[in-house]
Amino acid sequence: MSSHPLRIVVVGTAGRMGRMLVRAVMDNPETALHAAVERPASPAIGQDSGVLAGLSENGVLVCDDLEAGLHGAEAILDFTVPAATVYFAERAAALGLIHIIGTTGMNPAEEAAIAAAAQRATIIRSGNFSLGVNMLAALVERAAASLGVEWDIEIVEMHHRAKVDAPSGTALLLGEAAARGRGIDLATHSERGRDGHTGARAQGAIGFASLRGGSVVGDHTVILASGGERIELRHIAEDRGLFAAGAVKAALWARGRAPGLYSMQDVLGLRA
Ligand code: NAD
Repeated sequence: MSSHPLRIVVVGTAGRMGRMLVRAVMDNPETALHAAVERPASPAIGQDSGVLAGLSENGVLVCDDLEAGLHGAEAILDFTVPAATVYFAERAAALGLIHIIGTTGMNPAEEAAIAAAAQRATIIRSGNFSLGVNMLAALVERAAASLGVEWDIEIVEMHHRAKVDAPSGTALLLGEAAARGRGIDLATHSERGRDGHTGARAQGAIGFASLRGGSVVGDHTVILASGGERIELRHIAEDRGLFAAGAVKAALWARGRAPGLYSMQDVLGLRA
């Protein structure tokens, strides 16, 4: 353990995940909440971030002044929206900070901007910060590598009705794992959102289906189907708190590490 708790800024503090991140930082003796930042005009500005997170007052008021918040900070925890995340990554690079990115739904240009920022910032980006999903990804990679191309791979996910991007970042993370196992490029082997007369399934494709409804935190099933039998590998997230605890764990792992773009598989030692 380092001599002082890691000084963390939570951005998007008022969000579903932001509140969980504040809790996770306050709960961990190795981390300290340095600042709580929201978008300008958020109704949460000026509120106590501890109270907002359902805990007791912590004296850290939600603000929209990012630069003041980053002054003296060591790490940013960021589960917000892609455009904001790209800006935070640029600031993390300029200041040499740790940047933990949980935001999903980035386009290729935004992903390239994150990779560029990682030349000077220590960035850990993952579509899912839970141990269970990252273990599932390792199992999927192994299954895809062992089973022949006659085993079709389909990924089904379900999330709450307010989720704005599809497929989920976790579904894509699992698709990447399957593609790695098969030694193929996911971008050229995905089949997304079938509708109408699609024709038969292409052999070797990795299919995605997204369901939305209610308050589901995150369900993912990877189906491997051959003629006559199939395997289903499934993960159910019951509580957002586990993503937040994983993000805090990632920030502590990043402490003192060289700039670069890392994944939760690196943090958990699950890289093959
Ligand atoms: P949310 O809409 O509840 O919260 C997002 C917050 O970001 C909002 O409070 C919003 O005001 C704030 N925000 C937007 N722009 C900002 C800016 N410029 N500066 C500061 N704050 C800003 O969404 P959510 O459910 O908390 O999810 C957020 C993201 O995290 C999504 O992309 C979601 O898919 C992802 N997510 C990832 C994981 C994971 O493990 N990687 C888990 C859950 C959710």
